[in-house]
Amino acid sequence: MRLVLLGPPGAGKGTQAEKLAARYGIARLSTGDMLRAAVAAGTPIGQKAKDIMARGELVPDPVVIAIIADRIKEPDCVKGFILDGFPRTVAQAEALERLLAQRGLKLDAVVEIRVDEGILIRRIETRIGQMQARGETVRADDNPESLKQRLVAYRAQTAPLIDYYGKKGSLRTVDGMPPIEEVTQAIFRVLEKPAPAKAGSRPVQARKKASLKKPGQRARKAARKAKKKARTLRTVARARKRVSVRRRAARRGKAKSRQSALKTARRRG
Ligand code: AMP
Repeated sequence: MRLVLLGPPGAGKGTQAEKLAARYGIARLSTGDMLRAAVAAGTPIGQKAKDIMARGELVPDPVVIAIIADRIKEPDCVKGFILDGFPRTVAQAEALERLLAQRGLKLDAVVEIRVDEGILIRRIETRIGQMQARGETVRADDNPESLKQRLVAYRAQTAPLIDYYGKKGSLRTVDGMPPIEEVTQAIFRVLEKPAPAKAGSRPVQARKKASLKKPGQRARKAARKAKKKARTLRTVARARKRVSVRRRAARRGKAKSRQSALKTARRRG
């Protein structure tokens, strides 16, 4: 299973991605975690990304695309993966599609965790408080200034992906406001039901339902069908009758000619 999790910072993507990875036995790929590891290790990518990340801006597309291109080739991705924080731009989404197509693969679903933006700041403040209480290092971008910029980046560069995947028919949206466990269950439910139709086209079920809403039309259609069937049956019966009449006439004709031949023979003999 290959999944993408979409949602603004603080929507709970990381937490939900972990639960999905455990449930489906797939790898969790977080570009944020990979970039933070690169920053901590002081690699060239890390040095390039450090300040951009601290400001809450997006790291250039080619950098993250290259990271994902390498990562999805790893053996732990064979069974599938869940992408958390990638793609974040339409260019990244297109690159992902190409990378998967090269391997004869495609995404199974994109899950959008929708949250009320008003509570995002509070959620992140809570997260900071919890991390500090556990004695953990707080992320460099978990501060009001960077968070504001991360939200700006999300709205401008990432939110268009909702429309992008909606048109492709792979988007499923869940409400990210209830408690964590409820959101997890909602995600499992949307992933385990049939895929929705592409935006703009009505699903078969909806079309069927719409026709159920018009009983008059259905009754007229059924009556027309029954009439047509009766007409066909009458035509077949008439054709069968014609054939048997002809056969009987032919048999009578044969008998007559046999009798007259006998008479002639008797007269002569
Ligand atoms: P995250 O942990 O997903 O919130 O990501 C933290 C930061 O890493 C983001 O604010 C970006 O600066 C950077 N980042 C992570 N993923 C991407 C991506 N797909 N494209 C660009 N920048 C990213």
